[in-house]
Amino acid sequence: DLRVRFAPSPTGMFHVGGARSALFNWALALQSGGRFVLRIEDTDAARNRPEWTEGIISALAWIGINGDSPHFEGPYFQSAYEAQHRAAAATLVAGGLAYHCTCTRDDVKARTGSDFQGYDGFCRERGLTEGAVRFRTPGDGVTLVDDLVRGKVEFPNQAIEDFVIVRGDGSPLFVLANVVDDIEMRITHVVRAEEHLSNTPKQQLLWEALGKTPPVWAHVPVIVNEKRQKLSKRRDKVALESYRDEGYLPEAMVNYLMLLGWGPGDDREIMPWSEMVPLFSLSDVNPSPAFFDEKKLRAFNGEYIRALPLDVFITRCRPWLDPDWDLDTFSRLAPLAQTRIAVLSEITSQVDFLFLTDPVFDQPSWDKAMKPGAADILRGYLSRLETVSFDPESLKTALEETGAEHGLKLGKAQAPVRVAVTGRTVGLPLFESIEALGRERTMDRLRAALT
Ligand code: GLU
Repeated sequence: DLRVRFAPSPTGMFHVGGARSALFNWALALQSGGRFVLRIEDTDAARNRPEWTEGIISALAWIGINGDSPHFEGPYFQSAYEAQHRAAAATLVAGGLAYHCTCTRDDVKARTGSDFQGYDGFCRERGLTEGAVRFRTPGDGVTLVDDLVRGKVEFPNQAIEDFVIVRGDGSPLFVLANVVDDIEMRITHVVRAEEHLSNTPKQQLLWEALGKTPPVWAHVPVIVNEKRQKLSKRRDKVALESYRDEGYLPEAMVNYLMLLGWGPGDDREIMPWSEMVPLFSLSDVNPSPAFFDEKKLRAFNGEYIRALPLDVFITRCRPWLDPDWDLDTFSRLAPLAQTRIAVLSEITSQVDFLFLTDPVFDQPSWDKAMKPGAADILRGYLSRLETVSFDPESLKTALEETGAEHGLKLGKAQAPVRVAVTGRTVGLPLFESIEALGRERTMDRLRAALT
C-alpha cells in the first residue's frame, strides 16, 4: 500500500511551496487509498517554535489535509525518535558500514590543503569507539537515483564523501533521522522539494545499508517569482497563512497550488480538487521551475468567489464584517459585492459606508471628486432627493437631470456624490448603494460634504 509523508521543519511560517508538496502527497494518498503521514521534523531545537508547528497543522487543515480523513496519519514528531536514529547508527557501525571519527575541520584541512572538498577518510580504519559517526560511502561507481520527475540522475560516488550521520555530541543529523523515520513509517514514495535532490544519493545509500529497498523518489520543481528567483520568505509573500488571512478561499488556493508543476493535460485550469485527485500523476510533473503568479491566483480566487452560492458567500464574508453591522442590510448588497471582489478582505471597504456613521474618506478620492462645480451638483441632487422616489432608476434619473443643469454627463456628476456618500471614487453601483443607505442618511452625507 502506498504510504507517503509530508515532513516539514517548524522553522518559520508555512511556505506555499510546502503546501504544494503536501497537496501532491495528499492527492497520491487519496487516489490510491493509501496513507499520508505528517511528520514534524523538530530536531533543530534552536530554530523550532511551537507556534510554527501549530501554524503548519492549522494551515494544512485549512487546505483540507487533516485527521478528519482516514487517509491522514499523525502528526508524529521526529524528536521523539532520537533513540531509533542512534540505534540505526550503532547498527551501521557494528556492521562496518559506518565508523567513528574525531577529526575536526581544521585537522582535515591541515592534512589535505584548503582546496580539498570533503573528508579524507583518515579515521576509516582506526576502529575508534567514540566521536562523530561517518557513513562509509563507496569509493567508485555511481549512485543512480531514479526520480519520477527528473528521470535517472547519476551521482558519481567519488563525489560523495564519508558524511556525518551523528555529531560528536551524539545528536543525529537530518540525513539519517529522515531516512530512519521513513523506514520506520514504511514510506513507499518520497515526494519533496527539489532542494533535497542533493541529499538523495546519500539517503539512498543509507536505505540500502540498513537493508531496505529505497522508496520511489520524486523531487518537485522549485517555485519562482516573476523575476525567476526562487521564492524567498524575505522577498516574496510566501506564507500560506497570509493568503488565508487576506481572504483567499482554500479551494482556490488548492486549485492554484496544484498547477505549480502539474496540469490535467488539457487546457483546464479552474478545476475542483475532487477532479484533480484521480488525474494527478507524478510522471506528469514538469521538472522546470514553476512560476507563482500572484495575479493569476487572485483571478482564480475571484472566480471561486463568484461561483459561491449567495448564502455561502455571505457566511464566508462574516469574519471581515464588524459583528455590529446589520446582516440584513449587508445581504441586500452582497450580490453586487460578490462580482466585484477578488479576495474576501476587500468586502470591508466595499460596504463599510453602509454601517459607519461617517464614511471613511479617502483623501485622494476626495480631492479628485470635489472639483469646482462639485458643490452645485451636491446641492442640486440634495434638493431632488427630498421628493424623488427612492429606487435606483429614479435616483439615477435625478442625478442625470442635476448633471444636465450644470452641463455634466452622468459619469462626471456621479463622482462627487459617490465620494460624499461612500468616501471613495470606486465601489458598488452608486444608486443601489444610495437606496440601501436610505434617504435620511444619504441627505445627511451630502449636507456634510457641503460644509
Ligand atoms: N524537514 C525537511 C524539510 O522541511 C523535509 C525533507 C523531506 O521531505 O525529506 O525540508
